[in-house]
Amino acid sequence: NRTPLIAGNWKMHKTGAQAVEAASRIKTLVTSATGVEVMIAPTFTALYQVGQVLKGSPIALAGQNLHWESQGAFTGEISAQMLADAGCSQVIVGHSERRQFFGETDETVNMKIKAALSANLTPVLCIGESETEREAGNTFSVLDKQVRDGLNGFAFDGQADIVVAYEPVWAIGTGKTATREQAQEAHRFIRNLLDSLFGKPFASAVRILYGGSVKPDNVKALMEMPDVDGALVGGASLDPETFSKLVFFN
Ligand code: 13P
Repeated sequence: NRTPLIAGNWKMHKTGAQAVEAASRIKTLVTSATGVEVMIAPTFTALYQVGQVLKGSPIALAGQNLHWESQGAFTGEISAQMLADAGCSQVIVGHSERRQFFGETDETVNMKIKAALSANLTPVLCIGESETEREAGNTFSVLDKQVRDGLNGFAFDGQADIVVAYEPVWAIGTGKTATREQAQEAHRFIRNLLDSLFGKPFASAVRILYGGSVKPDNVKALMEMPDVDGALVGGASLDPETFSKLVFFN
């Protein structure tokens, strides 16, 4: 009974005008979608405008990153409060591109998760192993550390909403999707770990999204797996028609 979530991560694409156009189109295309939640994460500069477009619609707006402090001398950074002010209800945290290229660690991820929750933003915690780690047989130990450290200090109070996104690094932007069995195996591992850390009510309610080359032709098969509760989509979220096909995965 977890509501599926189809999320578009636009990464560093689209100007304000392009983002507004795409968001308006998506809003129209998915109006009749039921039993599924939709989220889009434009760049910072397009957030406010897209938020105005999405106002009153069930589509959630998300930031792609945040800083853990609420304000201060942190040139170039954006706080959870600022994202909320721009209209966001969610925020992506710890995307592998931030880990790879911008020095994100499990420790900074953890501070960001806490900052998001205290500003009432739903964090979408991204985790996933690299190709080398998978080949070395370390997939589960990598996921274990990313979940434990990323959610360190978190306690489930029956309220807090957290989404986890399993994004194997080798599947991002490569066209090399994980098989649905590989996705299911990782998602099951993550859910069992969340159960042991925070209890069954949390583990059975938390949505675990799969990300990595999700396309209209593979989304249904992935979504059929019992522990796959949605998708975090990069490339295929940029075109509204393609993205809406993912929302109507059934
Ligand atoms: P692609 O869908 O382009 O592989 O990207 C996945 C991703 O990183 C979503 O956050």
